[in-house]
Amino acid sequence: MKLQNIKIVMVGTTHPGNIGAAARAMNNMCLSHLTLVDPQCPIGETAYARASGANAILDNRETCSELVPAIADCSLVIATSARRRSLPWPELSPAELADKLVSMDDSSRVALVFGREHSGLLNEEIQLCNQMVCIPTNPEFSSLNLASAIQVLCYEIFSRQNDTPPTGKQPDAHDLPAPSSEVEGYFEHLEKVLLSIGYLDQEQPGMIMQRLRRLYLRSELTRNEINILRGMLTAIEKVKH
Ligand code: SAH
Repeated sequence: MKLQNIKIVMVGTTHPGNIGAAARAMNNMCLSHLTLVDPQCPIGETAYARASGANAILDNRETCSELVPAIADCSLVIATSARRRSLPWPELSPAELADKLVSMDDSSRVALVFGREHSGLLNEEIQLCNQMVCIPTNPEFSSLNLASAIQVLCYEIFSRQNDTPPTGKQPDAHDLPAPSSEVEGYFEHLEKVLLSIGYLDQEQPGMIMQRLRRLYLRSELTRNEINILRGMLTAIEKVKH
């Protein structure tokens, strides 16, 4: 895949220095697409000073108020975290992530999502992601500085760029993993149908949707597969009415 098609997404960052240092780390490793989700600080002098000349990345940053639109065009969305969560999410090592990216199609877009300095990513945000990457650390002291975590993953990806991707004929776009916006459209449809047939209880939804999200996100659905699944839901809706 192309390095330009990898977005670094920083969610709720509070220190402008971390945003500048992230831009510098990205520029060192030939990544250029920075997206800020709901930043909690101004992007001014401090950020530019820490960017040490990687100004273009800050100038061209994209800003979104929420994570959903920031990743809408990405067919692989990777959460990053220093710790395991209550509902464990499928995990990759940094090296496994780099391997996976090397084998992806050039047209694919990928988001690497980084959390807040103090509290990381919310569970709802992790549940929008296909997989999670944890950088191995001292188990007693596992949380890296935000920009350092970005540096480690950008390096890992950059260092694998010259590895030869598998050759073969270009797959049809419908046989490639669908972008997040289409997968989220499927989840909305699924939840609506499961509520309407009484499988989900609006008052007590429990963990079912979260577990179903994990199942489907893990399998990186293609557009064709989403069309089949949505066709099934539509057929169920017809019987129901
Ligand atoms: N106390 C927070 C730590 C946040 S550190 C928590 O427990 O989640 C800020 C961000 O840096 C994290 O959200 C993650 O994006 C990244 N990060 C820090 N350490 C990491 C690690 N070991 N592996 C992967 N990402 C890490």
